[in-house]
Amino acid sequence: MRIASLGSGSRGNAVLIESDSTRILIDAGFSGSEIARRLESLDRDPAGVDAVVVTHEHRDHTAGIGIAARRWGWPLFMTSGTATACEDLLHGGEETQIFSPESRFRIGDLEIHAVPTCHDAADPVAVTVTETGSALKAGVATDLGRATTPVRAALAGCHFLVLEANHDEVRLREAPYPWSLKQRIGGSRGHLSNHLAGELALEILHPELGAVLLAHLSQECNEPHLALSAVRSAIRPAGFRGVVEVAGQDEAGPLKDVSALVGRGNRHGGQLSLFTPR
Ligand SMILES: [Zn+2]
Ligand SMILES: [Zn+2]
Repeated sequence: MRIASLGSGSRGNAVLIESDSTRILIDAGFSGSEIARRLESLDRDPAGVDAVVVTHEHRDHTAGIGIAARRWGWPLFMTSGTATACEDLLHGGEETQIFSPESRFRIGDLEIHAVPTCHDAADPVAVTVTETGSALKAGVATDLGRATTPVRAALAGCHFLVLEANHDEVRLREAPYPWSLKQRIGGSRGHLSNHLAGELALEILHPELGAVLLAHLSQECNEPHLALSAVRSAIRPAGFRGVVEVAGQDEAGPLKDVSALVGRGNRHGGQLSLFTPR
């Protein structure tokens, strides 16, 4: 199983996940030409994408879904609330597949598990993607104000985690935003802070977690070193030796081989002291 962010942040989000036979995107929040450019930078042909799973209707996740569905025939998997909220992007010729916000379904040899999230959207979800042959599992959890019990349960056992680290709480408090916007971003239906991302990563830490890719960083209220430091300082003392990186906004990649990362994350010499069996 291989994974790459095509870019992440308030100006667009998409994650490529592929097995040897199936290639999907989680969200497509860039223009059609940007999606093509970013996929081609990873040597991936847009026509070779089998489907997009859309987490919610916000335009930084959906800007390209309509054009991609029409140009390359990508089926769009989304909840009914997301589909209704995206009607202006869809002209009627696109293939849409509706899934329930708490559901499991297959796209080729990838099993998708969707769980509802707390976010100010119609019907938002986080997803995990499991490659059925290898049982390797990746989780994509961005745009969530708080990690609910179902989200935590779904993310347990992930080998690769794309996790929102949206803002530094002090930077948000001091930002020149109206109070109402700060409340929305930092509230339970907003975005996950660096601190909460660290707590969540620690909670779901297990010996085969190979990598945590921090995503959806705020340009105004965060910096990569703040997000990395918050999450690394939460999970390194518990023995995590895998990769913690930040997904950039403007460029795709690099493409990560999850099985290679699991081997790396597992080289902890039995020191993973806070492992909670599930
Ligand atoms: Zn977003
Ligand atoms: Zn959102």
